Amino acid sequence: MPDLAAFRASLDGDVFTPGSPGYEAIRRPINVAYWDVRPRLVVRCCSVDDVAATVAYAHAAGDRVALRSGGHCFAGRSSTDGIVLDLSGLDRISVDDHIATIGAGARLKQVYAALHARGRTLPAGCGPTVGIAGLTLGGGIGLLGRKYGLTCDRLVGAQLVLASGTIVDCDADREPDLFWALRGAGGGQFGVVTELRFATVPEPVAVRIEAHVGEAGVQDLVKAWQDWAPDAPDELTVNLTIDTEPLRATLFGASILDEAATRELLSELTELPVEVRAGLPYHQLKQTFEGIEQPGRRIRSEFFSRTMSGDTLAALLAETTGPRQLAFTAMGGAYNRVAEDATAFAHRNERFLLEHVGAAPWVERSWAIAHADGSGRVYPNFPDLALDDAPAAYHAGNLRRLAEIKAAYDPHRFFDFPQAI
Ligand SMILES: Cc1cc2nc3c(=O)[nH]c(=O)nc-3n(C[C@H](O)[C@H](O)[C@H](O)COP(=O)(O)OP(=O)(O)OC[C@H]3O[C@@H](n4cnc5c(N)ncnc54)[C@H](O)[C@@H]3O)c2cc1C
Repeated sequence: MPDLAAFRASLDGDVFTPGSPGYEAIRRPINVAYWDVRPRLVVRCCSVDDVAATVAYAHAAGDRVALRSGGHCFAGRSSTDGIVLDLSGLDRISVDDHIATIGAGARLKQVYAALHARGRTLPAGCGPTVGIAGLTLGGGIGLLGRKYGLTCDRLVGAQLVLASGTIVDCDADREPDLFWALRGAGGGQFGVVTELRFATVPEPVAVRIEAHVGEAGVQDLVKAWQDWAPDAPDELTVNLTIDTEPLRATLFGASILDEAATRELLSELTELPVEVRAGLPYHQLKQTFEGIEQPGRRIRSEFFSRTMSGDTLAALLAETTGPRQLAFTAMGGAYNRVAEDATAFAHRNERFLLEHVGAAPWVERSWAIAHADGSGRVYPNFPDLALDDAPAAYHAGNLRRLAEIKAAYDPHRFFDFPQAI
């Protein structure tokens, strides 16, 4: 076993072992489902050299390593009884000439705030504590995505520590295959990302959209939403959640059109009253949606490339085995104007994403009903251990190239987990 004291002394960051002060707080990921997983060590890295030293230590100790940035992974891939390599100490953010350089440990809330100070932003997700690294490596869907694409579509470069311990920079010219693979295949596959560089966009002033619909209107609204939301102008993203028992729907979203144009477009979707709040800087609009995090519950999901049949939708809404939430996210727009093989994110022809959230048996039943009309494709950031053919569902036609890149950069599968490439 390598010398732990010498390893600790070599670090800018710190090492936490069971029983040491701070261990209980740092070992737990955000997702409560994995709170009982107790790592042998948590290494809080504060520099790229710390990351390389941790990779070397894990090799010498023969330990499994789980990489953790925001700690939100639904499948527990950032937890292990071996070594958690925690990147939260690498969270510096700088902006130079509209390029943001962001440490892999930064959370979305920090990212939005730092970019706002420069009048810039990124199309990225809603959860304030979600890690920019995990989000980007698996894609990154959010309220500006129909206008500006996935978060990974704005990635222009990254620094990584490979399984060999080598530190590399990749972009369109340097290690281009690795750069391609980082954009949407999912985290933890090719190396430890320590820094991400993004082409930011101007921070828009946005219109916040919210509406609530009672049981009587839900089925018609879901039907209309499926036909309308994925084809709406790029500047308008309206998502839909359905809560069952009692059945009710919430529309929420953002527009970067003016208030009058937004209202006019919304009138094509519904005649029901919609609450519209104009004039919000985008980061402020994001804050108003922060309450929707629900870590720890079972989630299954699937993309849909066509509208669900009336029978499937009726069966889905009539399913009364238990309370659950159905979350519909509009795709289309800029997400789909990128070729399927241009980045590792293969799902460029989908109309919407549907998540089923709740207790396990109800989610299984709900997912199975909707699956009749689903495209069989699954968002890599929503990993699902129950899939029959996970590699095809996550990566579709990009799987072969990803497998070649995995073999080139991590031939001994140092970075490994169930469903890894
Ligand atoms: C409450 C909540 C809200 C969410 N909202 C959105 C949303 O709005 N849009 C959206 O697209 N997704 C959303 N997601 C899904 C989210 O994108 C994924 O859970 C994502 O993987 C989280 O990244 P993380 O860094 O927080 O998690 P982690 O658990 O730290 O990491 C996720 C995966 O990436 C790997 N990884 C982490 N850091 C690195 C690194 N530095 N280098 C290489 N691999 C690494 C991990 O090992 C793991 O496999 C949400 C999830 C939750 C729980």
